This record gives sequence, C-alpha cells and structure tokens, in this order.
Amino acid sequence: MSRQDRLYHHLEAAGLPALALVPGPNLRYLTGLAMHPSERLTLAVLRPGRGVLVLPALEVPRAREFLKVEMELLPWTDEQGPRQALEQLRTLLALPGERIGVEERAMRLLEWNALQLAFPLRLPEAADPLLAELRMAKDEAELTAMRQAARALEQGLQAVLERLQPGMTERQVARAWQWATAELGVDNVGEEPIVLAGPRGASPHNVPADRPIEPGELVTLDWVVSVDGYFADITRTVAVREPGPERRRIYELVLQANEAGRAAIRPGVAAEAVDRAARAVIAAGGYGPHFLHRTGHGLGLEVHEPPYIVQGNAQPLAAGMTFTVEPGIYVPGLGGVRIEDDIVVTAEGGESLTTMARELVVL
Ligand code: ZN
Ligand code: ZN
Repeated sequence: MSRQDRLYHHLEAAGLPALALVPGPNLRYLTGLAMHPSERLTLAVLRPGRGVLVLPALEVPRAREFLKVEMELLPWTDEQGPRQALEQLRTLLALPGERIGVEERAMRLLEWNALQLAFPLRLPEAADPLLAELRMAKDEAELTAMRQAARALEQGLQAVLERLQPGMTERQVARAWQWATAELGVDNVGEEPIVLAGPRGASPHNVPADRPIEPGELVTLDWVVSVDGYFADITRTVAVREPGPERRRIYELVLQANEAGRAAIRPGVAAEAVDRAARAVIAAGGYGPHFLHRTGHGLGLEVHEPPYIVQGNAQPLAAGMTFTVEPGIYVPGLGGVRIEDDIVVTAEGGESLTTMARELVVL
C-alpha cells in the first residue's frame, strides 16, 4: 500500500476528513517535498484522493522537481500575499465536518491562522500519533539510506581515532570528524558533533570546548548525519592513554548495558522493556543514579522521533522500527561514558545498523 493510501486509511479510522501539513519531515515523508519552515506560508492539505499545496510562487519549480505525488499547487507571490490562494483552497477542498488533523509540534500560529481563513471554525486535532504510526516502521529504501549514513559516520570516526592525541581540543576533534565525513555522500555536516573529554563528559549533551584533552581521560564522541534525509546517530567513548580502574569499570557497565538493551529487542516487546534491560545492568553495578537519560529514541527523518525507549512507553516493537540504544554513566569530576547504536527490529530480534567495535579503545 502506498504511503498516501495508508494515510487515508488512518484518517478514516480516526474520523478525520483531512490533514494539514507544514514544511518538515511529515510533508517530506508523504509527498517527497523537503522544505524548512520560513516566514512565507507553505501549507499542504491532504484528504483521501486529493492533495493541495499552498506555496510561495518562487518555490513552484522546486515543488515540481521533488513532489512524488499528484498535488494541486496554489502559488502566491510576495506582492499578492496568500489570501487568494487560501480562498481557492477552500473552494477546491470543501471539507466536510469540523475537524482537521494538524501537527501539534510543528504547526505555528502563521499556518493555523491561514487555515482559519480557508476553513473557518475548523477544530484542530493532533495527528502526530497517527503520523508516527505511519513512519515508525521503515521500508528497505529508508533502511538503505540509514545504513549509508551509519557507514559514513563510522568511517569518519575511524579516521578521527587514528589521529586523536592528548593535547588536541574537543573542538579540533569535532571539526576533524566533520571534515572526514563531508566527502562520504552525506546530506551535510552542519550539525556539530558532541565531543566531550574528562570531567566535561559528565554533562551528556554539552558542546565541545577549546580545552585540550589530557592523558587518561575518556572522550565521548556523538554525532548524527543523514543520507536522503534519514539519520544515523552514533556514540563511542574512547580512552586517551590508560584511564585507570574506575573509568574502566563504568565503561564495562555501559558496554554490558548496551548489550543487554540490544538483546532485549524483538517484535512484540514493549519499548520500555528495552530501557529496563539496559538500566538494570547499570543499577546492579551501583551507578543507577548516574544514568541520567532514557535508553534511546526513534530515528529516521528526525533525530528524535517515536518510539522512545523509556519507562512508561508500552508501545510494542515491530519489525522495521528503528531506534537507538544508548545507555550512559556520568560521574561528576570523573567523566562520562555513552555507547550508542542504531537498531532496526527484525523478525527475530534487533540488527545494529552501526557496526563499529564497542570494546574500549585505549589510544
Ligand atoms: Zn547520539
Ligand atoms: Zn541519540
């Protein structure tokens, strides 16, 4: 079944006559058109068998190049503004009922006000769960893109590890990873890698600093890149020279937690069970309070998307779902360890799209 047919099916089941989409991953997933939100109104309205796109006139050539589905275009110019296009939208779609699906986390007042002009008194309903349902299980083409992104991240990281030395700064290492990955067929290398050494590694999502890396420190390296819009996300932690017993101990615990989390994955298992399996290892090792975040997040057109691998999420895993397993231990003053892999659920269990060795590397 095509993505659009699956959408219409879900809309019908939810009793929603139509879905309004703004630039972002859902629009890309359902139409092929990748755009970022801007100050110029772009608004798609889809109803079974019909899609209409209000867009700035200057974007029409791009829409024609990338749209993979039949859509009626209603362009507006900077001089005109979008009002006339919105009136045409109303005439074209003549929606029945009051309700309309919207993206709760993406729709701005800009688009909502425009929607009100076209369809007065329309009642918004968050369609995010329905859209997540469509997007969670990936098809072969999506997985191929994610595998390519993972390969590029790992090749780039391997090149960085070959030259990582005490005295280099976190930012130099981050730049080196970007340079080494830029030529490997990825969409772009705009996002800065997280590279944190020594005590700074105890703050999981901090940004790299100009501080030189000292012998004996652990260095956490975490980054995402995408291919065809699909992300891979990897973290490895290495030691620069001998790290000593406690750092080795927390490394071993995180490694075992990563293995336990991955081993818990199979179709039908709840997402929270994967979190529980990883967390139990760290708690048993006495570092439970130092595992500061959920075990993982869904991955795809977004770096963070459902399913979230967290206590309280009973979502059953199904073949094709992709998410990270990334337990960590963060000890103030000592440092941090995180080991992150990207997993696709298969019929038998979970397959890791990231394949780089996980054992402690001492540089
Ligand atoms: Zn990451
Ligand atoms: Zn992650």
